[in-house]
Amino acid sequence: MLPFRSNIAAMAGYVPGYQPPDVASWIKLNTNENPYPPSPEVVKAILAELDGDGALLRTYPIASSQTLRETVGELYGFDPSWVIMANGSDEVLNNLIRAFAGEGEEIGYIHPSYSYYATLAEIQGASVRTFGLTDDFRIADFPDRYEGKLFFLTTPNSPLGFAFPLSYIEELATRCAGVLVVDEAYADFADGNALELVKKHENVVVTRTLSKSYSLAGMRLGFAIGRPEVIAALDKIRDHYNLDRIAQAACVASMRDQAYFGECTRKICETRDWFSAEIRTLGYGVIPSYGNFVFASPPDRNGKRVYDGLYARKILVRHFSDPLLAHGMRITIGTREEMEKTLAALKEIG
Ligand code: PMP
Repeated sequence: MLPFRSNIAAMAGYVPGYQPPDVASWIKLNTNENPYPPSPEVVKAILAELDGDGALLRTYPIASSQTLRETVGELYGFDPSWVIMANGSDEVLNNLIRAFAGEGEEIGYIHPSYSYYATLAEIQGASVRTFGLTDDFRIADFPDRYEGKLFFLTTPNSPLGFAFPLSYIEELATRCAGVLVVDEAYADFADGNALELVKKHENVVVTRTLSKSYSLAGMRLGFAIGRPEVIAALDKIRDHYNLDRIAQAACVASMRDQAYFGECTRKICETRDWFSAEIRTLGYGVIPSYGNFVFASPPDRNGKRVYDGLYARKILVRHFSDPLLAHGMRITIGTREEMEKTLAALKEIG
């Protein structure tokens, strides 16, 4: 018997959303990717980095991703010492747990939200406490003082799509003895964000991704903004070359093209609001969404039936077997044309 750590031997491991091998033949609305390609500047920057024969790839990338930290800092009004870049925001979520929660220590998060937090805690041997939601989307039974080392707040929430008001997030920051990680993977599709709280409260860290709003899920890019002492700790833990040369070039180019970014997010939000209104007229329950997806529940509250009907038509959405969520589906917002086809399919399925 090999000497696996007992928690690793016992854990099941995270299963990401299905990625069909023949992806181009599907309308793929299951993992909240962006339907538009990244900025044309991204391709140019990648080609420039390859410089014909790819000779630069012989050499290691800049370990600190300094230009990216500067770009993010400039965009959001932070000194680069408040920014760390990550190989997808998953990496920085992982490193936050490694920095703050040891074996047997507790982290908390809301259910439903992003179940990967639990997997990361399991790897670390940390324990997990989940909190439910009230009907008006507040955290049920959140203590006056939460003593866990970290609390992960997914806002806008996935899979449900609602967002917590800033005043409520701030109140939670004061009630957390440990670090409040505001996971803003979808904040670019919402009206507000919690970045100002990072400056006001030493225990607030905001995480972001370029997978959704910047169309770069395939590149693996994310970042966190927090106090310099938090960033310094995360810097000790991360893989020293966590972002490759191509990813670094793509990141800077995409963030500098704010006009393209703004246009894509605007189109997605517009399509989201149109699609939500249309399926409501079919009798669907739809939670008002601040993300690039909607959580929708058919009139018979049988999410799996509709999921299967869509699947048969090569439209892939996300159905969760969790009893809290089984009545609906999370549907990523694609192009207007994709959503028109999805709407037509929903009408056919009935
Ligand atoms: N947080 C949330 C809430 C997400 O839905 C996702 C994407 N599944 C992530 C973080 C991770 O995003 P990435 O690693 O692609 O940056």
